[in-house]
Amino acid sequence: VSDVRETLQSLLGELVAIDSTSTRSNVPMVGLLERRLAKAGFETHRHVYKDEQGVEKVNLLATRGPSAGLPELALVGHSDCVPFDADWKEALTLTEREGKLYGRGACDTKAFIACAVTAAERVPVSEQHKPLMLVFTADEELGCFGAKKLVEARRGEARYAIVGEPTSLRPIIANKGYCLAEVEVLGKEGHSAYPESGVSAILAAARYLAQLESEAERLRIETDEAFTPPFATVNVGVIQGGKAKNVIAGACRFTVEWRPLPAQNVAHFGDVLERLAKGLEAAVPGARVQVKRLRQDGGVKTSTASKVVQFIVGQTGKTPETVAFGTEAPQMTALGAEAVVFGPGDIRVAHQTGEYVPVDELVRCEEVLEQAIRTFCG
Ligand SMILES: [Zn+2]
Repeated sequence: VSDVRETLQSLLGELVAIDSTSTRSNVPMVGLLERRLAKAGFETHRHVYKDEQGVEKVNLLATRGPSAGLPELALVGHSDCVPFDADWKEALTLTEREGKLYGRGACDTKAFIACAVTAAERVPVSEQHKPLMLVFTADEELGCFGAKKLVEARRGEARYAIVGEPTSLRPIIANKGYCLAEVEVLGKEGHSAYPESGVSAILAAARYLAQLESEAERLRIETDEAFTPPFATVNVGVIQGGKAKNVIAGACRFTVEWRPLPAQNVAHFGDVLERLAKGLEAAVPGARVQVKRLRQDGGVKTSTASKVVQFIVGQTGKTPETVAFGTEAPQMTALGAEAVVFGPGDIRVAHQTGEYVPVDELVRCEEVLEQAIRTFCG
């Protein structure tokens, strides 16, 4: 066991040493993983794209086993990390203290990646009778952009998927969707002493928001008890408008974020926003409303009866749960897989200075993934 532990720790150390903040290219990390996987008998393929800044990003697809047919199991991890504070000295130097390994990405999700690679190395090719695939994506932290590119290209299809995220080794079967829109209300500027000279975009926006609040309330009728809270939520997180206290506001903008339940039509609330926009334009002459949909990601819910969920339940003795954060499970589901989210470390420490993974969870995760390869691909 200490052998495995050493292998895991040194690979995780190498991965943490590569700064893979989402804004950077993940090619250095892909290169390291490629070399390692090629030695373990994998055929690797780079799915390359340029991000919005023109930076080259790569989704790495590695397959092993009989080349014909759909991979039976995909182990999926994202190569990118959130940024770290410049004064966090150990961000790129994996550091062990009291059974915990500290570093950026230590748990989210370089720990899972180290486990997946090590597990694949430890199962001899001769024991594998069905294809296994490892998928390492880019730009997850920015909105699962890499995984979405795979969906567009229909690459990365598999029968079952284990998606790595820090779940403290709990099986996660569902997450809510994530949608975002920007609403812009335009009125007409004028002198505040002469209200008839303009149309206040702020007052028009206030009417809109009052209606939006009752529409959000209506969303609470439909529930899924697997989630806390059990209904779709809505948030207006940012608002700005107006120029000066004595000017009738000509424009007001705000963001609307909503998190639909997996069973809900992902476009529904965006349609509601547009209906409210038409209603406001009719009610307030001179007002115009534009709804810009920025994101519309559906949630996901895998049946507890799925073989891959039951496998993780059997290995961990823990019942399936749901999470509030987004994962790449929806994209893997869109690619035809039954997906479960699972991995070492705790999401609550994931995006902070002092991110860490407990060594025992790292070792345990590798054992589970090794067993998964033998079970699904044996
Ligand atoms: Zn993550």
